[in-house]
Amino acid sequence: MKRPWKDVSVPLRDGMIHWPGDPECHIKRVNRMEDGAVCNLTHLSLSAHTGTHMDAPRHFVADGKTMEQMPLEAVIGRCRVFEFDCEDQITADDLKKIKLMPGQRVLFKTRNSTFSWGLKEFDKHFVSIRQDAAQYLVEQKVMTVGVDYLSIGGYEKDGVETHQIMLGAGMWVIEGLNLADIKPGYYELICLPLKIEGADGAPCRVVLR
Ligand SMILES: [Zn+2]
Repeated sequence: MKRPWKDVSVPLRDGMIHWPGDPECHIKRVNRMEDGAVCNLTHLSLSAHTGTHMDAPRHFVADGKTMEQMPLEAVIGRCRVFEFDCEDQITADDLKKIKLMPGQRVLFKTRNSTFSWGLKEFDKHFVSIRQDAAQYLVEQKVMTVGVDYLSIGGYEKDGVETHQIMLGAGMWVIEGLNLADIKPGYYELICLPLKIEGADGAPCRVVLR
């Protein structure tokens, strides 16, 4: 019997943590049945890069692909979860110790899953992908990379470079996962970002089993 699906997305909440400088996430009930309305209705206002979300190449490539152009193969199928115990950034040397394959979908679990998501403020010191590691992922022709905090690149370190390298190579990126309950290994992945036309990113629900 198959194991149950595990949800590795973070809940979207009014006022939730977001990348510094990006628009805030507002989730407000505008029609309330308790106030006599015939139905409840919620209004959303948020950046395309809120919570668990994907980056399309267009995020850092002026004429890059946008969300509705994403092939479903990038986000549905077998994936591998790797765990890293680095304190700062995942480096090319860290990645050379694991076996990566062309066309692979990989998710990287770090202390972000248990530590950073538990903080009340944005964690400026989250574990990110250093630019030499980004370059190595491109050389290995990995198709999809998922990380367990709000960006593949760090805060004020490698943020731009790592995005330019990975998105510039047409890689599909999932950010904002919470892999706290997931052990390293092989899984079935389903990640479905909203089909927002022309968008550089989109919130998504991600499940593994
Ligand atoms: Zn993003």
